[in-house]
Amino acid sequence: MSTSDKIKSNDDGVCEVNEMLQNMNTNDTDVVVCANCGKSEEESHKLKHCNACMMVKYCNRECQIAHRPQHKKECRKRAAELHDIELFKEPPSQWGDCPICFLLLPTLNTGSKYQSCCGKRICSGCIHAPVFDNQGNKVDNQKCAFCRTPHPYTKEEIVEMQKKRMEKEDAETIYNIGFHYREGRYGFEQDYTKALELYHRAAELGEARAYGSIGVAYNNGEGVEIDMKKAYYYYELAAMRGNATARHNLGLYEEIAGNFDRALKHYMIALKSGYADSLEEIKELYSKGQATKDDYTKALRTYQSYLVEIKSSQRDKAAAAHEEYRYY
Ligand SMILES: [Zn+2]
Ligand SMILES: [Zn+2]
Ligand SMILES: [Zn+2]
Ligand SMILES: [Zn+2]
Repeated sequence: MSTSDKIKSNDDGVCEVNEMLQNMNTNDTDVVVCANCGKSEEESHKLKHCNACMMVKYCNRECQIAHRPQHKKECRKRAAELHDIELFKEPPSQWGDCPICFLLLPTLNTGSKYQSCCGKRICSGCIHAPVFDNQGNKVDNQKCAFCRTPHPYTKEEIVEMQKKRMEKEDAETIYNIGFHYREGRYGFEQDYTKALELYHRAAELGEARAYGSIGVAYNNGEGVEIDMKKAYYYYELAAMRGNATARHNLGLYEEIAGNFDRALKHYMIALKSGYADSLEEIKELYSKGQATKDDYTKALRTYQSYLVEIKSSQRDKAAAAHEEYRYY
């Protein structure tokens, strides 16, 4: 049943209002009026949308408050629908493309490495690829494959590089240092508050994992009061910005709650970005009769096309040489 059908049948004694909502939903060219007092756009000058549902308009705050009791239920329902549309949209890829070989960067952590010198994330294949000199002799490659800066050797050099990246408002570096504070490692004194502050800064700069880590802080009460609602809110933000782990975890939460359809949707999105664990979960849902054979077939195909996208012989060679370069 569509939302407008629902409004029609949901007769709670405010027929005019319901009629009005229906008109607004089905025909945008109709005259729009305040859902509370019925004043038109012309009479009222500036009708404003209910921000939660975008379904009705009001002259002012007083009209909105007066109308709240009869609008509340429908408003919540529509707001939840709008939220789900955003939540289940295909997110951007987690890392984007490798700036050297232009192939999609694998989602698996070991498939690429962040370079503190230039702030680029480079695929394992390009990091591992041999470098030759003018005479065609293989040289010992101790430089960044992208910007050719020599790799840092000492802890001081690493910290110095990271400081420079921080000054440049580099989201990934800010996030990493936040994580060092959380763990109290690499010379950063353990400090949850400082970690959170940096996560928020990195999140604002677009680092998807930072949202996930803020969620973890609320989940565990690290530097904040435990608040599961907020934890979930931040997990969703991380997932919507392309973080595959957060997406997979949302699937798990929904599965635990018995919402198998929603779980499946999350797993499918995580799988599209190559999160292999999600394939296992879908397989399990299928074996328990909570997903169909079609779902499982689609899942297999989805993962297969991800592999086609990320595979390269250069990456295969790197993975064969070192476990730390495994990329799927
Ligand atoms: Zn009004
Ligand atoms: Zn509303
Ligand atoms: Zn590459
Ligand atoms: Zn570099």
